[in-house]
Amino acid sequence: MEHRARKRFGQNFLVDPQVIQRIVNTINPSAGDLILEIGPGQAAISKPLAEAGAELHLLEIDRDLANRLENRFASTGNIKVHTGDALKTDFSKIVDGRRFRLVGNLPYNISTPLLFHVLQWKDLVIDMHFMLQQEVVRRMTASPGGKTWGRLSVMCQYYCEVTHLFNVPPESFSPAPRVQSSFVSLVPHATPPVFIRDMTAFERLVNQAFSMRRKTLRNGLKNMLDASDIESAGIDPGLRPETLGVEQFAALSNLLEINR
Ligand code: SAM
Repeated sequence: MEHRARKRFGQNFLVDPQVIQRIVNTINPSAGDLILEIGPGQAAISKPLAEAGAELHLLEIDRDLANRLENRFASTGNIKVHTGDALKTDFSKIVDGRRFRLVGNLPYNISTPLLFHVLQWKDLVIDMHFMLQQEVVRRMTASPGGKTWGRLSVMCQYYCEVTHLFNVPPESFSPAPRVQSSFVSLVPHATPPVFIRDMTAFERLVNQAFSMRRKTLRNGLKNMLDASDIESAGIDPGLRPETLGVEQFAALSNLLEINR
């Protein structure tokens, strides 16, 4: 029986063989790889990944699809299906604490929280390849100074080298999503690009700054830092947060730690 796509799970299945091939060529799986795929759906990319001989763990929220995958791959030794919500899953348990590669044509309705969730495992992750809506990839790869630069850009770029790889049109999926898509890679930095004394303070500051992105730093951060603190980091308190780079957010959050 054919599976009816469920909107609530962001199901848009890849059906274009050329796009699937391009994705698999880009991931370039090899027999020794340990790969976790979020949202395998109907195995459009899982099948070619498994054929390369990788140890493949499929994490699917939709029980019907997970059951189908279990039946389909029951005799394939290198595939294991896990039924569950990626947002609530401890990835390190699935891979037994080993280093792994993460892939997925992600459900667009939860893409931002999912990206923040996966960044938790950056120390175990070798690399990540995701299909996302183009607008999200624009934000992930943005530079300071524009409307697309925000919390997602700062956090992704602090943790990873983010590369936009190619765009994919709606017709490559069934059903076709309403938006353009892009394929992106994230490779966690071996050493952080800037020094951050306290990640919690950094995240808090970045959140606060972008929750009031139209305000100047002086006003938007006033319950955290004085204008003179901001100046002491060599930053003009009259600037808007969207003009600051990762390094400047780091400098501000390092002050916050000292002041606490
Ligand atoms: N990988 C398949 C493909 O490329 O055709 C399906 C991609 S579809 C855009 C997203 C997949 O993620 C669906 O199979 C959906 O059921 C699954 N999914 C949605 N939310 C999920 C979650 N929270 N955890 C795990 N899988 C999820």
